[in-house]
Amino acid sequence: MKSSENVGCFYCSEYAKVVKSYPIIFASKDENSFTPRCFLHWKFKCSKCGVLTHFNGISWCSKCKEFTCLDCVEEKIVRKRFLVYDYYYNIPCNKCGEFNPALDFAEYNGTHPFQIKDLQPEEQITIWIPNNKEKIESQEKIRKISGVERILSLGTHPTIERLETPIEYSPESTWDVLAPFWATVEEENYHHKYMILPEVYRMLNVQKEEKILDIACGKGDIARDLVRNGAKVTGIDISKMLDYAIEREEKEKFGVIYLKLNAENLIDRFERASFDKIVCNMALMDIENYRTVIQQISFILRENGIFVFSITHPAFALPTSTRVRIPEDSQRNEDAIRIFLDYFDERPTLTSYGTKPPRNIPTVIFPRPISSYLNELIKNNLIVRELSEPKASEELVKKFPRNAYLYDDIRPYFLIVKTIKKSDF
Ligand SMILES: [Zn+2]
Ligand SMILES: [Zn+2]
Ligand SMILES: [Zn+2]
Repeated sequence: MKSSENVGCFYCSEYAKVVKSYPIIFASKDENSFTPRCFLHWKFKCSKCGVLTHFNGISWCSKCKEFTCLDCVEEKIVRKRFLVYDYYYNIPCNKCGEFNPALDFAEYNGTHPFQIKDLQPEEQITIWIPNNKEKIESQEKIRKISGVERILSLGTHPTIERLETPIEYSPESTWDVLAPFWATVEEENYHHKYMILPEVYRMLNVQKEEKILDIACGKGDIARDLVRNGAKVTGIDISKMLDYAIEREEKEKFGVIYLKLNAENLIDRFERASFDKIVCNMALMDIENYRTVIQQISFILRENGIFVFSITHPAFALPTSTRVRIPEDSQRNEDAIRIFLDYFDERPTLTSYGTKPPRNIPTVIFPRPISSYLNELIKNNLIVRELSEPKASEELVKKFPRNAYLYDDIRPYFLIVKTIKKSDF
C-alpha cells in the first residue's frame, strides 16, 4: 500500500477549516508536494486550447458543455468572500461568451459540473453539496489564507501583527521596558558596529566644534563618539534609555547635553538653524508622526546643514519582508526563506523578532514606502545627497558567518540617507 493513499487533499483541508462538514478527499495527485490534491481539486482540460488548467483558472459552461481557461479569453475579477478566498475569476465561455465562475467558486455556488451532474468524475470521490447556512457561516468566518501564510505555517518566523489606527501605544513605555536589555548591549552589537555606524559616521563627516543634535540618542553611544571627534553634541530621547546616558555622563563628563524630549517637539526647545548637523539613528521607523519630525528637523538645521538618518529597510526588513526557517531548527541560512508581504501597508505593526528577551518584547514599527520618506525630505528642503544600503563584506562573512552569509550579503537590511538643507533650489 502506498503511503500517498493516506494524504488528505490540500484544498479540501483548507476548506474544512471554514466549513465544518467539508469532506476531506484523499489526494491522488501531487501527493509528495506541499499541496497534494484530490481529483476534484486537480486540473481540467480547456475545450478550446486543450491545456490542462488548475481548477481555479477554468470555468464550465453548462449550456455549451465547454470548459474555458483564462488564457483563451479575458477574465474578470469578482471580489467576494467565499471559503478561504476574497475573490474569484469570472471566465466567459469560449463558445457563447457567457460569464461563468472559475471552478473554485462554482463548487462553493453548487454549480460545479460534478455537482450538477453535467460530468461524472473518473475517480470515486465524495462531492460536497453546499447548503445555505454553511455558506453564510463561512462568509462570516472568512480567513484569508495566502500563499505566504501557508509557507509561514511550515516553520519559525518573527511575529508580525498589523494594527488598526488609532492604537493604544506609547513609545516611551515600550522603550522603558526595553531599556534595561539594550543598556547591557555594548557598542559592538554586530549590526550597529559593522553595518550601520560606519556609514552614518562617514556621511556625517564630523568636524571640530560642529553643533550636532542626536535625535533618539538612547544611551548615548553615538553622542559620545561624536564628542570624541570634537563636536558639541545634544542628545534627546523620550525613554528611560536616556537615564543610562545621563548616568554615564555624570561619571565621565563627556560634555554631552541630554534632554528628555519628544522628537515631535523639537521646535519647542530649539531655535531656527540651531544645528550644523542632525543625526537620527534607527528611530524614524519607530516614530508615528515622521512628517512632523522631518519638518522640525529642517527648521532647526542651518542652511547647508547635514541631516543623516538610518532606518530598517522599508522593502527588505520587517514587516515588509520576513523569513521562515524550514526546517525550523536548521542552522544553515539558505533554509531561512525570504517572504515578501505588503510594501504599501502603512498600518502600525507589532513585531517581535525572537523567543528570548529583548527580542521577544514586541515593538511597534510604522512601516512606510521609501518614497514617503524621500518626498517628505524633499518637501522640507532636505535634498538627498547619498543613499546607502549596507552589504556585508567578505571579511564580515568570514568573521560572522551566521549573521552575514546568505543574509546581510544578499539583501540590505538597513537604509541610510544623507541630506543637505537647501532653502532655494
Ligand atoms: Zn480536494
Ligand atoms: Zn484554453
Ligand atoms: Zn457557452
